[in-house]
Amino acid sequence: KLLEMQEVAFGYGNQLLFQNVSFQLSPQSCLGVIGKNGSGKSTLLKIIAQQLRPTAGQIFWAKDLQVVLFDQHREQLDLNETLRSALSLSGSDQIWYREEQIHVMTWAKKFLFRADQIEMPLQALSGGERARVLLARMMQQPADILLLDEPTNDLDIPALEILEESLLDFP
Ligand code: ADP
Repeated sequence: KLLEMQEVAFGYGNQLLFQNVSFQLSPQSCLGVIGKNGSGKSTLLKIIAQQLRPTAGQIFWAKDLQVVLFDQHREQLDLNETLRSALSLSGSDQIWYREEQIHVMTWAKKFLFRADQIEMPLQALSGGERARVLLARMMQQPADILLLDEPTNDLDIPALEILEESLLDFP
């Protein structure tokens, strides 16, 4: 068991968004959340990521559980940074991915960048390419649970394919 929610409720002020939410997450499982705009999906994800506390109910996390949230208001990239440094969370040419070291050029290729793009500033890249940079950064964060909040928003087809591959690769 990675995470268990028991009868969780949440409201902002006296506006109750949801209540009696109970579920378990275990390895290799995948859970989708659907609901109308404003029904509280992002809020639920923030509770799982421990960015918000529930109004009622209980949540159990496995010991040392690492949760990564990829949200709609994604990390802001520094557009003056080069692709080489933006692709690496540590800033080094050696990237740690699941306890393995990968060179930044190999990592760039995996996310469909060409060798001649590596020294370009991010402002020279298209929106879809910048989205791939964000995915390349997200996949480096050690995670037991990946929370994706409308991850396909604004992604072009190559970025969607990269997202699919990265998720298939994620245990
Ligand atoms: P969803 O992801 O399902 O579209 P959200 O979880 O983003 O919904 O938001 C649920 C409701 O809570 C919305 O009505 C939103 O306006 C409201 N809300 C979101 N954040 C806050 C906040 N910080 N304070 C008060 N209300 C908020």
